[in-house]
This record gives sequence, C-alpha cells and structure tokens, in this order.
Amino acid sequence: MRIKKVRLAGFKSFVEPVELLIEPGLTGVVGPNGCGKSNLLEAIRWVMGEGSPKSLRGGGMEDVIFAGTSTRPARDFAEVSLLAETADGEQEVVRRIERGAGSAYRLNGRDVRQRDVALLFADAATGAHSPALVSQGRIAAVIAAKPTERRQMLEEAAGIAGLHVRRREAEIKLRQTETNLERLDEMLGEME
Ligand code: ATP
Repeated sequence: MRIKKVRLAGFKSFVEPVELLIEPGLTGVVGPNGCGKSNLLEAIRWVMGEGSPKSLRGGGMEDVIFAGTSTRPARDFAEVSLLAETADGEQEVVRRIERGAGSAYRLNGRDVRQRDVALLFADAATGAHSPALVSQGRIAAVIAAKPTERRQMLEEAAGIAGLHVRRREAEIKLRQTETNLERLDEMLGEME
C-alpha cells in the first residue's frame, strides 16, 4: 500500500482544508517548532482508525477538532481523508468527527466501521501503529521496547496483525455458540 494523498480540514491546527500529495519514497516533514508536523502524522494515524485519544496527545477524541484561537472560532468537526494505492486499486478512506456525535468512517464513499478501516490497513502491513510512521521519540521507543512490543511491531510489518483481531472475533463467536448449545441441551433435557 502506498499513501498518495492526505486531505485535512478542522483537524487540530489545520483549520482550513489542506491537501498534501505524498510522492513515492521516504517522506520527511520539516518545519519550525509548533507548525503542526506531529499533528500531520497524527491525522494520518487518526484516519487509519486510531482509537486512543492519549496517543494523539488529547484527553478525549473531540480534542482533535480545531479548538479555536484568539482570532478564530472553534470548529464543530474535523475530517481527514487519505487516498491509498493498494493491490485492489485506489482506496479512499475518510474519517469525520463532529462535536457530540462521535466518529464516522467511509471507504470509497460507503459507510464502514472502524474495524473495517483498521483491518484494511493491517492487512496491507500498515496502520495507526505502523513503524512506517516515524513520529518524534519513536526511534527511542523502538530501542527501549519490550520483546512483546517488538513482536507486535514485526507482526504489523508482516501484515498479520489483522489475523489477531479476526481470531479474537472468532473466539467470541465460538463462546457464544457454546453457550447457546448448552442452553439448547438444558431445554431438550427439560422437554424429555
Ligand atoms: P515541535 O517541532 O515543537 O514538536 P510540531 O511542528 O510537531 O512541533 P505540533 O505539535 O504538530 O507541532 O503542533 C502544535 C500546535 O498545534 C500548537 O500550536 C497547538 O496549539 C496546536 N494544536 C493542537 N491541537 C489543537 C487543536 N485542537 N486546535 C487548535 N490548535 C491545536
């Protein structure tokens, strides 16, 4: 998968809509302190399905919405869209959050769940926690990581992280089915 384009509107310091074309190869973001370099990387992780406000330096998810300045009023929503080239062609993922209404995702114009978006990226060996997105302090974190955390990084890089999600879901379904079968046995026993 290759990210080709990112569009942001109302996300953190990116109050006006802005579109960034990402060329093939390694992309670095440079600029003065506080200009929004980390916010840009966070926007990419957010549209990929990041669910933890803390890892986006916020207390709640709505903190990603432009909070206003002394000269500009706050916004009511934030939206990030990402265009990616995948083995199945171009895919456009959009995540939007509105105050009081939570997040919604769209994949190629269709409403989807967070899980669908996260799996799309996980299966393509990328995603919100991918080592391909190198934010500040990330190199030090990789060096200091525990073996289990390193294993997670390797699994994400290998594109098998999504299998864990599917296994957990299958296990839940299996437990539900076992409970249903037990209940059915009880009912049959009562009828005999
Ligand atoms: P540094 O090089 O110092 O790490 P940076 O370029 O990575 O800086 P960011 O941390 O991305 O900069 O951006 C910080 C700026 O974003 C701050 O000015 C902060 O006020 C602004 N900001 C963060 N969240 C919001 C928000 N919800 N609404 C408006 N502005 C925000």
